[in-house]
Amino acid sequence: MRRHRKFERQRNFFNVCGKCHIHCCRDARPPITESRMKIIEEYLKKQDMRIERPFIRAEYVFPGEDQEGYCIFYDKATKRCRIHPVKPETCVAGPITFDINRNSGKIEWYLKFEEICPLAGAMHRDKEALREHLKTAKIEIMRLVRELPPEALRAILKREEPETFKIAEDDVDRDILSKL
Ligand code: SF4
Repeated sequence: MRRHRKFERQRNFFNVCGKCHIHCCRDARPPITESRMKIIEEYLKKQDMRIERPFIRAEYVFPGEDQEGYCIFYDKATKRCRIHPVKPETCVAGPITFDINRNSGKIEWYLKFEEICPLAGAMHRDKEALREHLKTAKIEIMRLVRELPPEALRAILKREEPETFKIAEDDVDRDILSKL
């Protein structure tokens, strides 16, 4: 079990997420770095998954969407992510999100309200699970913010995430702050 965990980026939450009726993979627009794009493309190739327009390049790069705004990688029938092992960093980190506070020089960590994410509620009640997941979220998000170009990072930070509350904060490097 421990050996298996080592190769996973995230615990498998499908048991909770698969039963959820809130559609967090709709209008999600998780940012995709150039390196994440390559990893996803390789994965799609290996799995022989053909997806038309897998990525959209706008203010920042994010997955393609269907006409209803669902992420192109979301499987509506199973309610699962079809690229789970290689999905974008913010998808791994969820239901933890982040913001960077230029004034304090901190990266702030937020947890979604249970009303919009039952998994967040379960984590909030299980402090050990939340601690573990926060560690994972920090690794993923710190890689993301280091790799994203400045304009993409700025665009992402403009997105409002009102139904969240702060759970922690850390100092952030000058290199990252200089991108803002
Ligand atoms: S990449 Fe997967 S987890 Fe992320 S929004 Fe798309 S379907 Fe959901």
